[in-house]
Amino acid sequence: MKLVVLGSPGVGKGTYTQELVQKYGLLHISSGDLFRENLKNETELGIRAKSFMDAGQLVPDEVTIGMVKERLSRDDANDNFILDGFPRTIVQAEALGIVTPLDLVINFKADREVIIGRLSGRIICRKSGHIYHLKNIKPQREGICDIDGSELYQRDDDKPEAIEKRLVVYEEQTSPLIDFYKEKGILREITVNEDFGTHKEEIMNRIYKVIEGK
Ligand code: AMP
Repeated sequence: MKLVVLGSPGVGKGTYTQELVQKYGLLHISSGDLFRENLKNETELGIRAKSFMDAGQLVPDEVTIGMVKERLSRDDANDNFILDGFPRTIVQAEALGIVTPLDLVINFKADREVIIGRLSGRIICRKSGHIYHLKNIKPQREGICDIDGSELYQRDDDKPEAIEKRLVVYEEQTSPLIDFYKEKGILREITVNEDFGTHKEEIMNRIYKVIEGK
């Protein structure tokens, strides 16, 4: 299955994706995680991306497309992956369409105040980017990832100044993808306003139903 998850920053894409990866054995390809890994390793790509990420802006298409294409060309990508955070522009979506056809695109939706609450309380782990929330998805030990034991931290771009910018960028540059995939007949929409910590089963069942009904 070749799946793309769309939706505003903070809608919960990464959290639902972590579950989908386990249930369906998909490879998780997150462009944001790839950029953060490059930043951590101080690669040339990471250095190029840094100023855009810090400002809550999109990294230029040619850099992003090159990075994701390279990831998709590795052996483990084959026909079973979930793309999270890519594409984010029409140019990226068109480039992806040339590389591979998709089976399904899910657009996640939530109310604005829910999204802001999710972004401002989000903490992720240093090692692999596993996602938690200060109130809604607490780790077993404070400040430590349940999965790999690494430190949890707040992303710089989850601070209030950058959040506002990222939401504007999403509206302007990424939301046109909804119509792009609607026209291709492969888009499904799911609204999730409930807290994941207390409604996990209900939320995931809603998502499984859409995937399995496809
Ligand atoms: P994310 O973890 O998906 O919220 O991404 C964090 C940051 O990485 C974004 O705010 C962008 O600066 C950059 N980024 C991630 N994915 C893309 C993309 N598909 N196109 C351009 N920039 C991206």
